[in-house]
Amino acid sequence: MPLLENHIAVVTGAASGIGRAIAAGYAREGARVVLLDMNEKAAAEAAQEIRSAGGKAESFALDVTKRDDCVAVAKKIADTVGQVSILVNNAGIARRNGMLGAPEAVISDWEDIIAINLTGVFNVTYAFLSSLRAARGRIVNIGSIQSFVHLRTPSSPAYTASKHGVLGFTKALAAELGKDGVRVNAIGPGFIETPLNEKVRATNPDLVRVFMDHTPLGRPGKPEDIVGPAIFLACDLSAYVSGSIVMVDGGYRTI
Ligand code: NAP
Repeated sequence: MPLLENHIAVVTGAASGIGRAIAAGYAREGARVVLLDMNEKAAAEAAQEIRSAGGKAESFALDVTKRDDCVAVAKKIADTVGQVSILVNNAGIARRNGMLGAPEAVISDWEDIIAINLTGVFNVTYAFLSSLRAARGRIVNIGSIQSFVHLRTPSSPAYTASKHGVLGFTKALAAELGKDGVRVNAIGPGFIETPLNEKVRATNPDLVRVFMDHTPLGRPGKPEDIVGPAIFLACDLSAYVSGSIVMVDGGYRTI
């Protein structure tokens, strides 16, 4: 039997990269998948791709920074799709301006990154909380190696703070929701080839080399590399796993 049969899974930022791969992977495991993204057209295309492959999927436009919209879309999904039992908080952006960059960039990075990567995770979780508690559901938050480190490659303090925050939020929720049977975990991707880092890969080979020098498996990750761990954390194979972060980074933190 498929691992996610009878589940309804919501994935944010599902029009691209890691979120799109997770949505397709969940659908292959039998889940009915709801793709949420700011990019409504790309989310609809991704949902169509899943349906064409025989899966169950729909999509809705959502900017995770808008709390009222998160609540409204959760209601719409409850009314038209059903009770959500899996939430993947994946939507995120990355920028690499340091604290000593141009003041406008430093400030706008802080505001945008915290709003999307951290407050966005809060907003969407808040919106789906009653469904998830009623379903004894599972939450999978997408952290990063930046949930732990800010050492080897330039990254904005905002991105590092947001991903540390995602890990802290994961642990706090796991502690509070365990009594409701809700499991909350995170995934910490390493350097994964997606549109998020397309420009860096095209223009900054030195930065890519630093990542690869610290990646024992010797290659960048693909979105598909995140799918297995995301299925594991959403299905009953991880029934006694909560408050954890599964690093999917080719071993980055070992060297
Ligand atoms: P991606 O390909 O750029 O996909 C992110 C998706 O999120 C895009 O469709 C994007 O839409 C959407 N999005 C952005 N802001 C949003 C908002 N306010 N509301 C709703 N959707 C929004 O990036 P990715 O690499 O798959 O990243 C997914 C997650 O993995 C992020 O949380 C990222 O921090 C994390 N991560 C990635 C890597 C990596 O190496 N790729 C490593 C560690 C962690 P637009 O395209 O329209 O902006």
